[in-house]
Amino acid sequence: MNWLTNFVRPKLRALVARKETPETLWLKCPKCEQMLFMRDWEANQEVCTHCGHHMRIRPLKRLPYLFDEGKYELHPLPRVPADPLKFRDTERYDARLKKAQAKAEGATDALTVASGLMGNRMTVLAALDFGFMGGSMGTAVGEGLVMASELAVARKAPLIVFSASGGARMQEGILSLMQLTRTTIAVRRVKEAGLPYIVVLTDPTTGGVSASFAMLGDIHLAEPDAIIGFAGPRVIQDTIRQELPEGFQRSEYLLEHGMVDAVVHRHKLRETLIRMVSLLMDPLVVANATANT
Ligand SMILES: [Zn+2]
Repeated sequence: MNWLTNFVRPKLRALVARKETPETLWLKCPKCEQMLFMRDWEANQEVCTHCGHHMRIRPLKRLPYLFDEGKYELHPLPRVPADPLKFRDTERYDARLKKAQAKAEGATDALTVASGLMGNRMTVLAALDFGFMGGSMGTAVGEGLVMASELAVARKAPLIVFSASGGARMQEGILSLMQLTRTTIAVRRVKEAGLPYIVVLTDPTTGGVSASFAMLGDIHLAEPDAIIGFAGPRVIQDTIRQELPEGFQRSEYLLEHGMVDAVVHRHKLRETLIRMVSLLMDPLVVANATANT
């Protein structure tokens, strides 16, 4: 028995583990189907090194690329009643939530709120996580966004939101729908305080999130080739009974039709955001610079 557990089992495990290593080192780009070395891909902010396809990146991976020297402070989401409706489909909602939390590196729901210096200016940033139950918006996300907007107002800081969501969280029924109005009012408070509210639309931004705070920015940036819309193309096609144009609901199409102000590569987001915020908050500096030349 001892010989089996102490000697044979570790050997077998080592054999199996060795087989798994190549799979964790490489991944396939879903767009161009080329193989990517995991380390290169991560260093490239999860953008394909062959074709430039922007894959869905989780907030904690994204944040270090945005703040000065990669330094920021995380703000835990306010506590909300978990599973208020005692909802159950094929699985209990509270069990689903726990599973998602276990994979979220400390995040309690689909929103991450952080603050720190960006271009030497205090900035509040909130990012939705599509990897957490499809980035769906329930009470915790709504409450988190209210907190982020209050934080921005208190610190006289701009609010930048990264959206990535399938919509409202159906397991919270009407309570999740109420977050549409709550988040709308929350971002309005930032605007009323005369502070910039900028949205970066990432793949995918749909449903209730696109019907509330994600479409209310002073400026809308989008990552390349992201799906942005309310209902999916199939639903629209069946309703209007017409073929939809090529590239419908993609960032570039929305830019052409005036719904998005700029499509920005992930590598250029930090500098673009800093420039936009500066344009909105430092008009005197810009005016002086022109006057002096
Ligand atoms: Zn690719």
